[in-house]
Amino acid sequence: MNLKDRYAVFGQPIAHSKSPGIHRIFAQQTGQFLEYTAQEVPAKSFSTTAETFFAQGGKGLNCTVPLKELAWAFADRKTDRAQLSKAANTLAVQADGSVLGDNTDGCGLVRDLLINHALTLTGARILILGAGGASRGIIVPLLEQSPRSIVIANRTVFKAINLACEFQDRGSITGCGFNELQHSQFDLILNATSASLSGRLPPLEASFLAENGVCYDLAYGDAPTAFVRWGRENHAFKSLDGLGMLVEQAAEAFFIWRGIRPETQPVIELLNLQRSKNQH
Ligand code: NDP
Repeated sequence: MNLKDRYAVFGQPIAHSKSPGIHRIFAQQTGQFLEYTAQEVPAKSFSTTAETFFAQGGKGLNCTVPLKELAWAFADRKTDRAQLSKAANTLAVQADGSVLGDNTDGCGLVRDLLINHALTLTGARILILGAGGASRGIIVPLLEQSPRSIVIANRTVFKAINLACEFQDRGSITGCGFNELQHSQFDLILNATSASLSGRLPPLEASFLAENGVCYDLAYGDAPTAFVRWGRENHAFKSLDGLGMLVEQAAEAFFIWRGIRPETQPVIELLNLQRSKNQH
């Protein structure tokens, strides 16, 4: 009989997922007895697969592309941050058997920026490239840091404008197309487009980066992404990718499930070491 509490990440594709490895280390580190697997789940079979998983005693799920909106709809109850982002990357069974949906992506990003990279967002001029699910999930946690302004720029302009409108009562936030960024300068440029995944870049000017400006790509890979390379070539103070965010959002999910917060720094160091080996 398997007495381990069962967790999994669902998504498509999922073979590349680092989540099982990350949660295995968290479990060892905190002495938790659990199993965490990765399962390829297409959108069309998400709800039946999730229902079966929970009916068979599964305790929690992470959901990644393209399932976050479906996971949000599946949850019986949502945290405020999941409700605001209309997406859930974490599902957790509650004592009464109901399923809680949460979104730990934004919190993971902010923890990576503030704690791991010692950056401050208060008063910062922030540019978010992209207006998809990831952008939606990071807006409120970023606004909570009291930046001077947030501009969302997107290829499909109306999506950026609509997204900014949804949050304009929470701070200074506007949406526009890439062409309207001329003559603007930012202290932090976040790439939340999926362009990096295909080695492409949104149209960017070096002049967008303020002195000591920071670039951060939510995407990550063994090799530096096109956006991380752009940041380096244009003398960003730091040009970072989303590996730290990945580990931080996982730690927050682990905390939701197990009530114990794992240490993220050793895991980030290990993943960085692994990818530097993979590059050679
Ligand atoms: P979505 O598919 O929801 O949104 C994609 C966005 O990228 C859209 O705004 C789209 O614009 C834009 N886009 C796609 N291709 C291009 C291009 N060639 N040029 C300009 N814009 C483009 O994806 P998500 O929001 O879910 O994910 C975005 C990124 O964030 C991914 O790389 C993902 O891996 C990463 N991510 C990382 C996490 C982490 O833990 N590190 C967590 C969550 C996401 P349009 O609207 O015009 O189509």
